[in-house]
Amino acid sequence: MIELRNIKKIYKSKNSSDTVALNNINLNIGSSGMLFIVGKSGSGKSTLLNLIGGLDSPTFGDIIVDGKIINKFKNKEYDCYRNSYIGFVFQEFNILEQYNVYENIELSINLQKRTVDRKNIDLLMNKLGINDLGDRRTNELSGGQKQRVAIARALIKEPKIILADEPTGNLDSASSIQIFQILKEISKDRLVVVVSHDIMSAQKYG
Ligand code: ADP
Ligand code: MG
Repeated sequence: MIELRNIKKIYKSKNSSDTVALNNINLNIGSSGMLFIVGKSGSGKSTLLNLIGGLDSPTFGDIIVDGKIINKFKNKEYDCYRNSYIGFVFQEFNILEQYNVYENIELSINLQKRTVDRKNIDLLMNKLGINDLGDRRTNELSGGQKQRVAIARALIKEPKIILADEPTGNLDSASSIQIFQILKEISKDRLVVVVSHDIMSAQKYG
């Protein structure tokens, strides 16, 4: 489903030397399952995930997703790819504090200019164990609850690929287990790529 060919990412700097964040990466990733990318801080994990997610482009090389070279996309195609193919989950949750839980999930669909089927959102909230939290402001939630909202927001778009960058980096161990179990379940019928420095969890869930 995803093929990285000779990927190189160099961050140019005006004031200091350039950083080679990725150097000749070749990788083939299938269309389902839970893949972990582990490595120490600064090794280029987030860079790799951002390239796959179309948030940034490689300096050299091609990224092929379902037969299309995504780094050659025009802006509109890139937008469409990010919107319909990819669901992102971040360490810092990145949910909107001024909206309640339900609205955060609904907004994700509205941004795709699709109408919301309340039943689908309710089903998903049930599945993620946040069905009692619909009216709650997100700044009143625990970290584990926030991350489940973030996963719901990603999943409601029904993306083919979920990209998670250190999704348990801000969570206690009990919440981390819940999140990994949810991502594992999701990965039965779609691709979930997790970036983490947690090798134990990679061995357990990956
Ligand atoms: P990781 O996620 O594994 O910690 P990153 O992909 O964030 O690593 O970073 C890889 C390298 O690229 C690091 O040396 C980092 O300092 C550098 N880097 C990351 N983002 C940028 C950027 N926007 N501009 C310049 N250098 C960057
Ligand atoms: Mg990172």
